[in-house]
Amino acid sequence: MKLLEAGERVLCLDNLQTSRPSNLEMLKKLEGFRFVLGDVSQPLPVEVMREARSIRRIYNLACAASPPLYQLDPEHTMLTNVLGTDRLLRLAEQAGARFLLASTSEVYGDPDIHPQPEHYRGNVSCTGPRACYDEGKRSAETLAFDFARSQRAEVRVARIFNTYGPHMRMDDGRVISNFICQALSGERLTIYGDGKQTRSFCYVEDTVAGLMRLMEAEMPELVPVNIGNPHELTIAELIDSLAEIAGAPLSPTRHPLPTDDPQRRRPDISLARDLLDWQPVTPLSVGLRRTFDWFAAELEVTESKGDNYEIDASPGLKAFVPIPATA
Ligand code: UDP
Repeated sequence: MKLLEAGERVLCLDNLQTSRPSNLEMLKKLEGFRFVLGDVSQPLPVEVMREARSIRRIYNLACAASPPLYQLDPEHTMLTNVLGTDRLLRLAEQAGARFLLASTSEVYGDPDIHPQPEHYRGNVSCTGPRACYDEGKRSAETLAFDFARSQRAEVRVARIFNTYGPHMRMDDGRVISNFICQALSGERLTIYGDGKQTRSFCYVEDTVAGLMRLMEAEMPELVPVNIGNPHELTIAELIDSLAEIAGAPLSPTRHPLPTDDPQRRRPDISLARDLLDWQPVTPLSVGLRRTFDWFAAELEVTESKGDNYEIDASPGLKAFVPIPATA
């Protein structure tokens, strides 16, 4: 959306695995937007290859980012990151385009230094249930840096920390969408573990601004850049912030902590500040309020269409399962 607003033409390749169809409908109405259905773990569609000459920039945002969703088909998650990144890097090489990889804070795993600067090499399990994503993204970074070192493509690597905002799916399964939908439905909030684990949440508009800034920046050296909000809070504190917005106390229910769930996470964004002159500008209270209001409106539409929602809070499963009105 921001690229279109800036006057760019956008060719969007998506397998629709985790998208919200109405997001796409919204974009399809805009001039300069073209959609191609395809999966980067497979050979790229001919409609994309035909455009190779006119492609100037490639944002590789492919891959489910929600733990329950990326763990549904771990092999596909790994291949999306490894084969998908390789295919898009080759396309960048052929097109002479600049390539940006959306990497992740998960490359730091369960970090033993805090906050996490880019030079920290991480503490990642290569065999656990999160490895398909974490190691997939680490391999994707390796490919991107190898292409850059051998001057086959100009690359940028963003390590994105927990993004949230409107237009997420209700069944995304990540904590903010789960908690907001549960609060709005009068359900108890599903805390995994003791709620003392921390995250640093970045509002989607700030993340997008950071990615676009990184893509266009002239980089003095080949380095990944953390894109995130250093405001760190525990999951229990997140519930308090949401209760203020909901205007009522929210009661939690405890569930087991998923395997390898990181205990702490907070970006050191000194590099982004220095190299990109970027930092997040949306306070958590403002971003949460916008997200809460958006989900409230969305649930109203869903209910008026006669759909109900029930919660399946087990980690590893979708949190919200739509039940057809006729069921
Ligand atoms: N979490 C939780 N309840 C939920 C969903 C997630 O307590 O309904 C916890 C999860 O265990 C993790 C944190 O919230 O410690 C962030 O989880 P999320 O899936 O949003 O992102 P990630 O683990 O990839 O940072």
